[in-house]
Amino acid sequence: MPDGTRLPSINTTCPYCGVGCGVSATPNGDNSAMVAGDIAHPSNGGRLCSKGSALGETLGLHGRLLAPRVDGKRANWDTAMARAAEGFRAAIEKHGPDSVAFYLSGQLLTEDYYVANKLMKGFIGSANVDTNSRLCMASAVAGHKRAFGADTVPGTYEDVEGCDLLILAGSNLAWCHPILYQRVATAKEKRPGMQIVVIDPRRTASCELADQHLPLKPGSDVALFQGLLTYLARHDCMDEPFIRARTNGVEDALEAAAPYDLTRVSQETGLPATELESFYARFAWTEKTVTLFSMGVNQARDGTDKVNAIINPHLLTGRIGKPGMGPFSMTGQPNAMGGREVGGLSNQLACHMDFDPASVDRVKRFWTAPNIAEKPGLKAVDLFEAVEDGRIKAIWIMATNPVVSMPDADRVKAALKACPLVIVSDIVDTDTTACADIVLPATGWGEKDGTVTNSERRISRQRAFLPPPGLARHDWQALSGLARRLGYGKWFAYGNPADIFREYAAMTAFENEGTRDLDLGGLSDLSDSAYDALAPIRWPVRKDGGQIERFFEDGQFFTEDRRANFVAPALSPKPAAKPLPLILNTGRIRDQWHTMTRTGRAARLNQHIGEPFAEIHAADAASIGITDAELLTLSNRKGRIAVRALITDEQQKGTVFVPMHWTGLKANAARVDSLVTPSPDPVSGQPALKSSRVKAAPLAPAWYGFAAGLSLTSPEIAYWARSTALSGNRMELAGSEMPDDWAGFARELFASQHDGELVEGVAGPGTYRAALFERGRLTGILIASSRPVAAARDWLTAQLGHIITGPERTAILAGFPGEGAADPGPIVCSCLGVGRNTLIDAIRDGATTLNMIGTCTGAGTNCGSCRPDIRKLMEARNENADA
Ligand code: SF4
Repeated sequence: MPDGTRLPSINTTCPYCGVGCGVSATPNGDNSAMVAGDIAHPSNGGRLCSKGSALGETLGLHGRLLAPRVDGKRANWDTAMARAAEGFRAAIEKHGPDSVAFYLSGQLLTEDYYVANKLMKGFIGSANVDTNSRLCMASAVAGHKRAFGADTVPGTYEDVEGCDLLILAGSNLAWCHPILYQRVATAKEKRPGMQIVVIDPRRTASCELADQHLPLKPGSDVALFQGLLTYLARHDCMDEPFIRARTNGVEDALEAAAPYDLTRVSQETGLPATELESFYARFAWTEKTVTLFSMGVNQARDGTDKVNAIINPHLLTGRIGKPGMGPFSMTGQPNAMGGREVGGLSNQLACHMDFDPASVDRVKRFWTAPNIAEKPGLKAVDLFEAVEDGRIKAIWIMATNPVVSMPDADRVKAALKACPLVIVSDIVDTDTTACADIVLPATGWGEKDGTVTNSERRISRQRAFLPPPGLARHDWQALSGLARRLGYGKWFAYGNPADIFREYAAMTAFENEGTRDLDLGGLSDLSDSAYDALAPIRWPVRKDGGQIERFFEDGQFFTEDRRANFVAPALSPKPAAKPLPLILNTGRIRDQWHTMTRTGRAARLNQHIGEPFAEIHAADAASIGITDAELLTLSNRKGRIAVRALITDEQQKGTVFVPMHWTGLKANAARVDSLVTPSPDPVSGQPALKSSRVKAAPLAPAWYGFAAGLSLTSPEIAYWARSTALSGNRMELAGSEMPDDWAGFARELFASQHDGELVEGVAGPGTYRAALFERGRLTGILIASSRPVAAARDWLTAQLGHIITGPERTAILAGFPGEGAADPGPIVCSCLGVGRNTLIDAIRDGATTLNMIGTCTGAGTNCGSCRPDIRKLMEARNENADA
């Protein structure tokens, strides 16, 4: 507002993880907004994690796509959509409907997803509509369907915090779903008897709360849970009446699990028999048990079997559909659930209906669809293979970045470059828009309007509080535009998202009568204003008002005979004959989201971890001659990346962990999925993203460097990684040869050929230091050395833009604040900007608990995501004191 008055607050939903926290956004009137947790939202009760708290900093028009582009040139929507429709029509006429595809995203709202699915499966006549959620939880979907007859998440967050034993299987809840983790932490604080077991090859931040950590060998989860089934059977823990009345297949499941005694499980998992027995006994004697699983389970060649191996013990003990019990799938994305609800996966037709003749007929009649798809379409890995071999002639990619996130990412990039028509809708340029013939500007968080569903089936409104920037359009509008141009306009004449939601809700109830879990009939008549005001609500919401808290309380499942199925997992897949030495695990870090298109814009989130890295065990690092902070390469026949070595005993020998977030725009060689062999699970089609083989080697550069600048170019050197800072940018660098002309290199890096005063420091052998000043203000600093650079990076970056004179210049060139000036060190608490050195000082001064540190420094008092890191610092201090 011109007078600085703020507009009223709008309640909306966080666009990141599947916890689905409520956010209260207060627009400032200038395309920015203040953001806080929505106290009334049942998922978070007012809390936000570091990512959610920084949402306000990701707004603004910098770097936004504001107009369509066709063949690299700015265009209007008419031109862009005419070309898109012409491409789709030509491909369909000449090669049939299966020659076109949509590739969607868990970032889309349910209304966007619904329109895309309806257009492709009901009108174009193909089921080639898949989503990046395939990479996240397709195995959970497949496991649920095999066991329950439907993709049903039975439980709720109240069950997760209300259980007496919480098993986290393949889930680093502390970093990937921080607010649910904080709810668990609070529950454990109130009820210290609550036990937590973490099953993960890595010792992650989630182990902070754990009573037991089981660092099993990667990929041995099925053996672990088969052993559990056998143990339960042998120790009389079976709920016979439930098994007899409500399930099928127990005999086969027990027979398949019988060979898994403690000795065998110990061999396969690498866990001591005593640890196994302790875990099995906890499960056996704790009635209220929840097994929460996530990507570590799903992203595997046997992901679906793992899911069923987890569900089986719950069926055997009858611990499902009751308060504080059950298997619980956590989704990675904000609307992975909404996508799978409407039919965003190519092997589901719509609204939890499959491609059986009755469902096809029902959906066809509901949509009055002229060209209903009658068979499943291509799943993500197969879809991009079809792009590569030319079967797909036109693809529209929305709100996702497969050139970075798909396995075999370089192959996906080459396939898209060769595809006759690639359309990409997004909010900013990405590695994938670089492959597009048509780029469409989409609305983003804060501008979009619709609904999302979180991991506990809770539908929340994502509301707009900013106008669409430039020519940006909502995805459902762009899709409806394509439908109109293909001749289907009357079926897609939606005036607003409420129109779409009502149709979707009515479809879930259409000829349902309790046969399908997903039923939103009670929301199908919402007025526009009721839709606008819709409070978070967990489905099902039946028209007769039959609301239920959790599924299967009545022992009724969604199979034909209404019984649950035990599913005996197939034998574990064998590893490759001559594998490379290291197993590559990929995943998330605390303060970044996916390919950083949004979180990468928030400077304080980049302060936590500013460059790509590989966590590697000391023995593996020693075997290749790498020490901490040096650069290493990871390679296989698919490709090669270069990242920083982070040596840690939290990583098992023979394994490395590399985050999934870095793109070609953020680092020159760190797209980790370029090393990943897809190896999809045969049932779910979900690719294995945690088990590719690589070898490591030192990058052995001639020099390492650190630079900060108001503007930094991307040099042609062996390694660089950039991040946005509070003022300007920062970059880590390394070169295979010392530049002949360091001053020239520095000026080129700072994009300043002639301007400004370049002050060079006293250089020792193999070192170079320079700072660029323009009208006395620091605009760039470069420190290079033959060893990894030691410098107060956050402090240096914070000096950008300031007038620096006299001895302060000496400090800048030295890379550390002068005497008497505080260096907070690398940021640990992103919410309050508290650095490592500040925390170490507080610990040294006598802060012995998290609460005391919070009182002294503020760290850990907002979202709590940094508490595991603070605890580690406290432990390190205690160990040093004991030594
Ligand atoms: Fe967003 Fe964090 Fe909540 Fe996830 S836990 S929804 S990222 S605020």
